[in-house]
Amino acid sequence: MERRNTRKIMVGNVPVGGNSPITVQSMTNTITKDIHSTVRQIKELEKAGCHIIRAAVTDFEDAKAIREIKKNISIPFIADIQYDYRLAIAAVENGADCLRINPGNIGSKSKVREIIDRCKERNIPIRVGVNSGSIKKEYLEKYGGVNENSMVYSALEQIRLIESMGYEEIKVSLKASSVPLTIKAYEKISQFVDYPLHLGVTEAGPIWKGTIKSAVGIGTLLSMGIGDTIRISLTGDPVEEVRVGREILRSLNLLNEGIEIISCPTCGRTKIRLIELVEEAEKRLEGINKPLRVAIMGCPVNGPGEAKEADIGIAGGQGEGLIFRKGKIIKKVKEDLLLDELIKEIENL
Ligand code: SF4
Repeated sequence: MERRNTRKIMVGNVPVGGNSPITVQSMTNTITKDIHSTVRQIKELEKAGCHIIRAAVTDFEDAKAIREIKKNISIPFIADIQYDYRLAIAAVENGADCLRINPGNIGSKSKVREIIDRCKERNIPIRVGVNSGSIKKEYLEKYGGVNENSMVYSALEQIRLIESMGYEEIKVSLKASSVPLTIKAYEKISQFVDYPLHLGVTEAGPIWKGTIKSAVGIGTLLSMGIGDTIRISLTGDPVEEVRVGREILRSLNLLNEGIEIISCPTCGRTKIRLIELVEEAEKRLEGINKPLRVAIMGCPVNGPGEAKEADIGIAGGQGEGLIFRKGKIIKKVKEDLLLDELIKEIENL
């Protein structure tokens, strides 16, 4: 699929937009100033494949903590600021790689200008984040409530304000909890600006439902070539957000990292404990960062054939299984050794 052409900005050392790979973001749910817990969570997220992390900065202690947090993590840090321009400035001074603000919430033009001036000094990009729940009253009245027009024109006002201050290191998000509205809003803004777009369906819900909503919303936009970085919002462990985000990208061939598992749904021919095997494989293969497709199939009749596209795989039998590579059988192994053997083969690839 052809990606929409956007400008490239740098969030720390990670490019966003242009032809850069689409990145997965998440947000910590620790108290940011609890440096130990925040660093621990960010490290877990890094391990799960998170490319950029965001954290709420609610007071000066949070802002100050950024300096220490950044010393202990390897991915760029975005400070999420609501209302107080002084916190945005403190976040920049303490080393934030990007700010997420809603200029409409910051107050007077002079306060916004102060933030922009600090960002300019260090080339720190700003995400203009408009949510369907926080559109200014005048836009709601003018455009007849919460819809793609009130969202887009509200974002455009904020973008134009930052541009008028001579700054264009911008990315934009327009999140709604309604999937159709999210799609319409991003589609519309992409006709007006070429800044990189941060995609998300906000307040998507608990893990199972939120995963589906996000996959439909973000997946639809990505398949239209829209979107440069994504964040899945789930009520749950943020590690799940990263897993889901990566899987959405992978399913559209937009992630060239880590292992993709293909597995069959099982049927009356399945003679091994395939469901347990796949669950175990998922856990054990998570840390291997090779761009491989691994098939785990229930039977030797259809297994290798159905998974010809896979780089390597297993086809289960009665108490044993076959290991195959690119559809060709390479060895027969007892059931309880199948996974160990598969991992050995993957490590040797
Ligand atoms: S691969 Fe074999 S066991 Fe799995 S669904 Fe297909 S036929 Fe059934």
